[in-house]
Amino acid sequence: MKPANRVFTSLGTTIFEVMSQLAVKHGSINLGQGFPDVDGPEDLRASAAEAVMAGPNQYPSMMGIPELRQGVADANKRFYGLDVDWQREVMVTSGATEALTDCLLALIEPGDEVVLFEPLYDCYLPIVRLAGGVPKFVRLTPPEWKVDRAALEAAFSDKTKLIVVNNPLNPAGKVYPREELEMIAELCVRHDAYAVCDEVYEHIVFDGAGHIPLMTLPGMRERALRIGSAGKTFSFTGWKIGYVTAAPALLAPVAKAHQFMTFTTTPNLQKAVARGLAKGDDYYASLAGDLEKKRDRLAAGLEAIGIPVAHSAGTYFLTADIGKLGLGDDAEACKRLTIEAGVTAVPVSAFYENDAPRNFVRFCFSKRDEVLDEAVSRLRRYIAGR
Ligand code: PMP
Ligand code: GLN
Repeated sequence: MKPANRVFTSLGTTIFEVMSQLAVKHGSINLGQGFPDVDGPEDLRASAAEAVMAGPNQYPSMMGIPELRQGVADANKRFYGLDVDWQREVMVTSGATEALTDCLLALIEPGDEVVLFEPLYDCYLPIVRLAGGVPKFVRLTPPEWKVDRAALEAAFSDKTKLIVVNNPLNPAGKVYPREELEMIAELCVRHDAYAVCDEVYEHIVFDGAGHIPLMTLPGMRERALRIGSAGKTFSFTGWKIGYVTAAPALLAPVAKAHQFMTFTTTPNLQKAVARGLAKGDDYYASLAGDLEKKRDRLAAGLEAIGIPVAHSAGTYFLTADIGKLGLGDDAEACKRLTIEAGVTAVPVSAFYENDAPRNFVRFCFSKRDEVLDEAVSRLRRYIAGR
């Protein structure tokens, strides 16, 4: 038999699926895969249900329904002061995953260099490789996760086609400070490179800080492709509605990739998401505010039982150093914690291609308070009993 495509045959199953399955098998509390355990706003669910009954239920335009594209353009203006032409600069996709795939396949040609920060979200690298891109890694190391200017400069060359920037960063909970974004923008301009900006956690930023899209920095309006996700912004991770904002010359090839990837996206859910984007500032404030309290709750709980936690400035996640627990490396520790303690996390090494740190795990805190408390109690009992 002839081999299937090696990009895929060389891969294991994604860590999120692996850990969720293991959690189910052992009845463990799943703080692994990132999803909230309470669904998003009831009015949006009602609006989606109405739209299923009343329509639209047929193929919408491949670019997305006009209301949602207008909603994305309006949100760009409202939150970041960006002027966006909804007809030429916004496209709706089946989740941020599809948006990322469309952008990478549309822009990368075989031999192009692609700058990627490690830790990196797990779908980036296979798609870069599928497109024939040559990855150039820049490492961020816990617990600070700082960008080293010299390392970043060294990763760029005149062969760089693009950089992928996930801000806020999963799994680190890092929010890139303006100085680092400026550094990235400067290098993109210097090397005539694009930036694919995975900003799915744009509204989940803590401590009163605001999200800064790379697209708003000098020289980046025409170079950045900004990706958002209703999954994260409205706590409907299963809906898989994403959106891309990019200058017309960039969005055009991305739309060509999309037309043969999925062509279009569930119209009734798009209607509900359009309504969601127009929600008042109180909605957005409480999304971040509620998650910030959960971050603090889990962080305090873990610290109190002797598990040091790295600061999380955004996302659903915090990372913790399990090196002193004596459970083996992070992958082994996550298995043992699931089976023996009944709490599931994700090993941070899964987000590195090279020389991964082996003592950090990622916990998801977008869960009910009683679930977070029970997870900490289980860990406390487990640690005490060893
Ligand atoms: N990028 C990052 C950094 C993520 O954490 C996720 C997962 N939620 C995605 C992309 C994929 O988002 P979606 O579910 O909208 O495809
Ligand atoms: N983004 C989610 C996470 O980081 C997982 C999404 C998925 O399972 N593909 O946990």
